[in-house]
Amino acid sequence: MRDELTRRRFFELGLALPLPFVAARWLRASDARALPPTKECDDHPTDANALGPFWKPRSPKRRVLRKPGIRGTPLLLTGTVYSTACRPLAGAVLDFWQADGRGVYDNSGFRLRGHQVTDGNGRYRLATVLPGLYSGRTRHIHVRAKAPGGPVLTTQIYFPGVGRNESDGLFDPDLLVKWASGSNRRRARFDFVLQH
Ligand code: FE
Repeated sequence: MRDELTRRRFFELGLALPLPFVAARWLRASDARALPPTKECDDHPTDANALGPFWKPRSPKRRVLRKPGIRGTPLLLTGTVYSTACRPLAGAVLDFWQADGRGVYDNSGFRLRGHQVTDGNGRYRLATVLPGLYSGRTRHIHVRAKAPGGPVLTTQIYFPGVGRNESDGLFDPDLLVKWASGSNRRRARFDFVLQH
């Protein structure tokens, strides 16, 4: 019964997926060594940020959003989802959507849209492209995140050193990724802290 309720709840959220399962091998050990944590985990949940007009329900379940023909600089975003008690959260759902390198969303299909479930160590891994700028907005990736049994966090994540950050009214410096050193701005880390 509980499983059925959980499943129905995901559908209500538009995160239609089978029950969370553990995919243990999708974060290589080398990634973990190369990328320092974005922030110290504390009991402060990740800030919320606007949903925006382009979210679509029922995104595909996938970690690789970068496909042939999609414009933009390759970007690998990884991180860990923590509870407010700083425990890694397995089975958390992350639903990502973003513009391509030219600042264009796919609103008729599901290009650059996908959800995934954190592994047994609370980790996620998103292979995508660096989102482009569009009218009034700095560079950002949208995400809806939900720990098992917790509320949905709707937020956006941002990139350091983008001139438009300061003039974007939605920009939040607490939502900046951290670039991996030596990655030439192609690998970044962001950790989430979710209510659980
Ligand atoms: Fe947007």
